[in-house]
Amino acid sequence: MSVALEDQARFEAEDCAALVLASFACRSCLKAPDLITLTGAPGSRLATSKCAACGAMNRVSMSDTQAFKLWTLQRGNTFVHFAPQHW
Ligand SMILES: [Zn+2]
Repeated sequence: MSVALEDQARFEAEDCAALVLASFACRSCLKAPDLITLTGAPGSRLATSKCAACGAMNRVSMSDTQAFKLWTLQRGNTFVHFAPQHW
């Protein structure tokens, strides 16, 4: 079973890493993602992650500021991949 779940990123640029990464937890089972793929044009960034535990596709749209925050913070075990063909 695979479902696609969409949300809007809720963190702010000044939030700590743990809070930012919580925005990308699986909407279905709350597992933290291993990999986040960031795509989209400036102003409409879209972070996609596939849950390793339940297979749900989680999509989180965000602003450029939030995307930059995601890219620069200490991400622990979560890898953030930028897909350059979409920039
Ligand atoms: Zn899940």
